[in-house]
Amino acid sequence: MNESTIRILLVEDEDHLAAGLKLNFELEGYAVDVAATGREAGRLLLADQPYDAILLDVTLPDVDGFALCQKLRDAGNTTPVLMLTARSALGDRIEGLNAGADDYLTKPFVLEELLARVRSLIRRRDWGRKTETPRNAGNVLRLGEAVVDFDTHDVRMRGEPLHLTKLELDLLRYFADNPGRVLSREELQQEVWKLHDYPSHRMVDNFIMRLRRHFEPDPRNPVVFLSVRGAGYKFVPLAPGSGVA
Ligand code: CA
Repeated sequence: MNESTIRILLVEDEDHLAAGLKLNFELEGYAVDVAATGREAGRLLLADQPYDAILLDVTLPDVDGFALCQKLRDAGNTTPVLMLTARSALGDRIEGLNAGADDYLTKPFVLEELLARVRSLIRRRDWGRKTETPRNAGNVLRLGEAVVDFDTHDVRMRGEPLHLTKLELDLLRYFADNPGRVLSREELQQEVWKLHDYPSHRMVDNFIMRLRRHFEPDPRNPVVFLSVRGAGYKFVPLAPGSGVA
């Protein structure tokens, strides 16, 4: 295992599920420790090996996952936490988020979705780290004739300042981080707006229109923020300097 290996703590008392998840995450290149109880999780968390993400089952034999999450946060631990639970009631989800969880997945879930959410959690944590470093060159996006600095929120089109709202920047950032991938409206709503199971997606469509007006050479014939029929949107980066309208 090298230093860049991503380490995950899986807190899950169902042996079969824990073993399956451990195997699948290891196949993806992660290192996984499993704890079957809250006590064991606490012991592993106290060890000197820090984790990049924690997958936390809500119903554990000795402690409630919400309480464990709250305890971690109270102790100043900021490791991203994804709660796993059979409970899908909205109240429970809110309780999880209030306890300091970063995301929430209801059992039974599709493995691919869990993997995608864990990747997303770790990516978001990395952004947080990057923005602590001033003027990180990695936070600049060149899109056609536009230059977007995600650290300073300075956006220029052919050298002229362009004003984007925080949410427009967050949405653009999410696209820039996922080039070429079809992103559903649900995913965008969850990842950018942090809204889970929100019924209307009109907001997402409105924001895509705004990004198109800002960045597309011809907003009526998009080539950057593409609609994928019945699926969502796909970001196709323009080569720097190209795409004059
Ligand atoms: Ca359980």
